[in-house]
Amino acid sequence: PIPTTKFKRVMLKISGEALMGDQGFGLHPPTVERIAREVQTVQQMGVEICMVIGGGNIFRGLQGSAQGMERTTADYMGMLATVMNALAMQSALEELGIHTRVISAITMNEVAEPYIRRRAVRHLEKKRVCIFAAGTGNPYFTTDTAATLRANEMACEAIFKGTKVNGVYDKDPVKFADAKRYEKVSYDEVLAGHLGVMDASAIALARDNSLPIIVFSLDEPGGFRGILSGQGTYTTVG
Ligand code: UDP
Repeated sequence: PIPTTKFKRVMLKISGEALMGDQGFGLHPPTVERIAREVQTVQQMGVEICMVIGGGNIFRGLQGSAQGMERTTADYMGMLATVMNALAMQSALEELGIHTRVISAITMNEVAEPYIRRRAVRHLEKKRVCIFAAGTGNPYFTTDTAATLRANEMACEAIFKGTKVNGVYDKDPVKFADAKRYEKVSYDEVLAGHLGVMDASAIALARDNSLPIIVFSLDEPGGFRGILSGQGTYTTVG
């Protein structure tokens, strides 16, 4: 039986690095496929799914500019990296029979739809997965902010931030055995404690619109679906 959920529409934010597997760079198709299956299990629950995927597995603007590249150009390269990741995810989802649209904040009509809010909403109503690519379309932002922006625009009930760990800790749980996981933490605590959930502009945008951020582990099979049906460990930022 398919578990039930109170969620109708959600945003799933994953970093580009989540798609690279153990390679240290780029795209690892079996890993993309594994995440696509996680998305599929949630789609089968009837939940409408928005996705934002970062680009850090390919290019980050800050790294480029640290090496002497002009910042805005480097940021546009980062945004283009997110389009590549979005296309890879679209391909994996469609392989599973899930209708998927890549919607780009930078117009490139040959590869992705332009962002038109009402059109995106219509796709969601028709149960198509919408992957929002090219971030916000502006330099100096991140895909965390893009995910928060689109989640607000699409009236998602929450952002699900898939990470390597199953929540927000007071210190790095990979390095410290006594790190403590929060059940719930406020936006302001995240900002003041520099807890590294998302960057400050994303947290502030979520706070100002009372949009909960649920931090969970993308590595636990069935984790995404489990949390949507009220199980598993995670942290709610709200
Ligand atoms: N980026 C940008 N504007 C946006 C979103 C992303 O300029 O609205 C650029 C920025 O250079 C960033 C890169 O795209 O470093 C990749 O995104 P991000 O670092 O958020 O990816 P993640 O860390 O989630 O993989």
